[in-house]
Amino acid sequence: MKIGFFGVGNMGGPMAANLVKAGHEVTAFDLVPALLEAASAAGASAVDQPALAVQGAEVVISMLPSAKAVTGLYLGEQGILDLIDPDTLIIDCSTIDAATSRRVAGIAADNGRVMIDAPVSGGVGGAKAGTLTFICGGPADAVEQARPLLECMGKNIFRAGDSGAGQVAKICNNMLLAVHMIGTAEALQMGVDHGLDPAALSEIMRASSGGNWSLEVYNPWPGVMPNVPASNGYQGGFGVNLMNKDLGLALEAALTSGSSTPMGALARSLYAAHANQGHGGLDFSSIQTYFRSRDAD
Ligand code: NAD
Repeated sequence: MKIGFFGVGNMGGPMAANLVKAGHEVTAFDLVPALLEAASAAGASAVDQPALAVQGAEVVISMLPSAKAVTGLYLGEQGILDLIDPDTLIIDCSTIDAATSRRVAGIAADNGRVMIDAPVSGGVGGAKAGTLTFICGGPADAVEQARPLLECMGKNIFRAGDSGAGQVAKICNNMLLAVHMIGTAEALQMGVDHGLDPAALSEIMRASSGGNWSLEVYNPWPGVMPNVPASNGYQGGFGVNLMNKDLGLALEAALTSGSSTPMGALARSLYAAHANQGHGGLDFSSIQTYFRSRDAD
C-alpha cells in the first residue's frame, strides 16, 4: 500500500521502518530533517512538504507529540485534511486527549473522510520489535480496514469503541500503570528499610496478591532484574515526562467525565515532583528513587 507517514520520531521512525519491511511504500514527513534522513535510510521516501506525503496515499498515519501538533497537521493553515483523498483511511497513533481526537475525527467525517484514533502501548522497544499494542477508536469497519497495516507494527490490535475511545482506554491503562509502579516502589523501599533483600521481597510479592506487571517484567529496584531500565541507570524505556503527559491527559479526562480518580491524581503529583527534581528524562520506574530513605545516601 502507499502510506503517507507523519512524525518519524522515537516511535514513528521504527513504525515506518516496519511498514517498509512488510513491503509497503512509505512516504515520510517530519519537521526534523535528520529524522527524515533516518527514515530514508530505512527505505522510506522522505519529502519536505506535508502535501507531498499525502499525494496518492491510500492510508495516512500520524505519530505526533501533542494535540496541538495533530490539529496543526490536519486542520491548521496548511492542514492536510482537504488534500487527503476521501477514500484514504486516516490513522492517528498519537497519544492526545480524547476530546481533540473526537473533534478532529468529526471534522474529517463532516468532510467525507474516515479517521480513527489508534494510540499505542509498548514503547520504543515495542515499536522497534513490531510488537506494539494498538488501542483503536472509531467505526468498526475502519478499524478492520486498518488491522492488516497495524499488524505490521504491532501484536495486539484492540477496538475500544467509537472515536476517542482508543485514547480513553490508553490513558486508563497508563494511569493504572503509574499507580502500580508507585505502589511497587514504595513497598520495595519499605521492605528494604526493614532489612529485606529487594530480590527476595520482589519474588514473594510477585507470587502473592501484590503481584503486578511492574514486579513481573519491569522491576524498579536496580539489579533485581536484568535488561530493565532500573538495572541500567534508569536509561531508555518510557520517560517520566511522557508518563507525566499521560497522567495529565488522564486528569483532564476525569474532569470531563466527573470521575473520581484519587490515585491517578496523586500519581500525577508524584511524577510531577519527580520530574521537577530533574528526573524527567529518566525511565518512569525511576520513581523508585523518590522513596529512597535518607540512610541510603
Ligand atoms: P517524538 O517527539 O520522538 O516524535 C514526534 C515527531 O513528530 C517529532 O519527530 C516531531 O518533529 C514530529 N512532528 C511534530 N509535528 C509534526 C508535523 N506537523 N508534521 C510532521 N511531523 C511532526 O515522540 P515519540 O516518542 O515518537 O512519541 C510520539 C507519540 O507516541 C506521542 O504522542 C507519545 O505520547 C506517544 N507514545 C510514546 C511512547 C514512547 O515510549 N516514546 C510510548 C507510547 C506512546
